[in-house]
Amino acid sequence: MTETTEYQAWRVHEKDGKYVGAEETLSTDDLPDNDVLIRVSHSSLNYKDALSAAGNKGVTRSFPHTPGIDAAGEVVASKSGNPTLGQKVLVTGYDLGMNTPGGFGEYIRVPSGWCVPMPSAWSAHTAMIYGTAGLTAGLCVDKLLRMGLKPEQGKVVVTGASGAVGTVAVELLAKLGYEVVAISGKDKQHGELKKLGASEIRGRNELDHEKKPLVRPEFAGAVDTVGGGALAELLKRIQPGGSVACCGLVAGTEVQTTVLPFILRGVNLLGVDSVEIPAAEKQAIWDKLSGPWRCAKTEASARDIGRSGLDDALKAFLAGDSHGKIVLDHSR
Ligand code: NDP
Repeated sequence: MTETTEYQAWRVHEKDGKYVGAEETLSTDDLPDNDVLIRVSHSSLNYKDALSAAGNKGVTRSFPHTPGIDAAGEVVASKSGNPTLGQKVLVTGYDLGMNTPGGFGEYIRVPSGWCVPMPSAWSAHTAMIYGTAGLTAGLCVDKLLRMGLKPEQGKVVVTGASGAVGTVAVELLAKLGYEVVAISGKDKQHGELKKLGASEIRGRNELDHEKKPLVRPEFAGAVDTVGGGALAELLKRIQPGGSVACCGLVAGTEVQTTVLPFILRGVNLLGVDSVEIPAAEKQAIWDKLSGPWRCAKTEASARDIGRSGLDDALKAFLAGDSHGKIVLDHSR
C-alpha cells in the first residue's frame, strides 16, 4: 500500500504544561519514513505508556505524540524482504511509542528490524494480552532458570504481583512448579492472584525497611517489578546463591543497599531489559510464551478496551491501581 490512508489514533497534546490525550484522524503520510507500514489491530497497555501520556520527558521528548509501546497487526507495505506484505507481525519496545508514533494508532511505520513474526499459535489479540509486560515476565523467569533456580530450592517471590508484569510472572512460575509468594498492595486482587497460582499473598509492608543489612533468607529467587526500597529489602531476604530478576521502577529508581547480600550470600542481581534486546532474543521468549509457557489464566482474565477507554486506564497505572492485562482493540 503506497497511497495515503487516513486512520484513527489516540494522540497526546501538550497544552499549557498539561498533557491531554484524545482520538483524532491522522494520515499515513505523517508517519516516519521507515521501511515497514503495519495496520495495527491491537496494542497492549503498559506503565511506560502511562508515563508517555503524562508527559514524562524521559520517555517522550516532544508532543503531539501517539503512545503505545506494543503493536500487533499486518504488514501493508514493506521496502524490505523481511517481513513481507501481508505477514502478521509483532512490534514491542525499541523506540515504538516513545518518540516513534506507537500502537495507540491504527497504523505504524517502523524499521524492519523491529518486527517479529507473529507466533503461529497466536492471534494479534492474544499476542497483545502478553505484550511487553508478558515478554518482560518471560525474560525475568528465563534469567532465573538460567541461573539454575529449581522448584525444590524454595519459595520465589513476585513484587507488584497484581500488575501487568507481575500477573504473568506469578502464573508462569506457578505453572513451572514453583511455590510463589505474591506481594501485592491490593487486597481486592488477592483472590485473582490465588487463581493464577500464588500459594501465599502478602502485603507490601512485607518489605518495610529493616535496619539490619541481612534478615532471615526466605526466598530462593525473586521477580521484582517495583525497584526502590522494596528491591533493597528483597535482597536482604534472598537465600545464599539465589537471584533477583529486576525489571521495574514503580517504587523508585534509587536502591540503597549494602554489599552484604552479594559478598556474604552470593546473591545475584539480574537486570532485565525487554526494549533494546535483539529481535531474535524477543522471538525466543515469544516462542516459549506461545508454547510451553502459555498462561491460560492470564489470557482468560485480560480485559479489552477501545481508544475511548485509554485515558482512565492509563491514569490507573500511575495511581498504582491498575491490575492484570489490558488490551487495546482498535475495532471497538
Ligand atoms: P503495573 O502498574 O501494571 O504494575 C506495577 C504494580 O506495582 C502495581 O500494580 C502495584 O501492584 C505495584 N505498585 C505500584 N506502586 C507501587 C509502589 N509505590 N510501591 C510498591 N509497589 C507498587 O506496571 P507493569 O507491570 O506494566 O510494569 C511494572 C514495572 O516494570 C514498571 O516500572 C515498568 O516501567 C517496568 N517494566 C520494565 C520493562 C523492562 O524492559 N525492564 C518492561 C515492562 C515494564 P500491587 O498493588 O499488586 O502491589
